[in-house]
Amino acid sequence: MPDATEALRLFAVPAADDLTEQQRSGAVCVWCEYELHPREGIDLGGPSPWRPHGCAPCCEDQSRALTTYLNWYDHGIGCLRCPLGPCEQASALATSHLSAQARAGRPELSCVNCRATIAPDAPVRPHLWQGLNGPVFSYLHARTCPAPDTR
Ligand SMILES: [Zn+2]
Ligand SMILES: [Zn+2]
Ligand SMILES: [Zn+2]
Repeated sequence: MPDATEALRLFAVPAADDLTEQQRSGAVCVWCEYELHPREGIDLGGPSPWRPHGCAPCCEDQSRALTTYLNWYDHGIGCLRCPLGPCEQASALATSHLSAQARAGRPELSCVNCRATIAPDAPVRPHLWQGLNGPVFSYLHARTCPAPDTR
């Protein structure tokens, strides 16, 4: 795993193309666009030449979303009951991740397998994999993906 700042950037910072010039340069918070004074923001690292920064409240919310994701993912690796469908503990971890996610203002979840949006009541599981630029924090329908015409 990369260090915490890099993980946070990979987890939560939108792609450079989706950011404004000011967000890329670190002049404003990458999430809420709050104008940051010099040294006020938290440096999120990143491939130069851009240098995204976050304000403290946003970094806290986004970190909570990341931590709850990792706890949930770690549970799934070791749990013998989860392959049969999310167990009670996994459901609780999912709930705490989804509420942290909502608080952080993250968009709806979508499934990396079928690419559909995951309905709020559908069982979901985290899917962490190594992409070309580092870990990719994604989601899957926990059981089967719904057929496209039933959605
Ligand atoms: Zn902010
Ligand atoms: Zn479990
Ligand atoms: Zn799916």
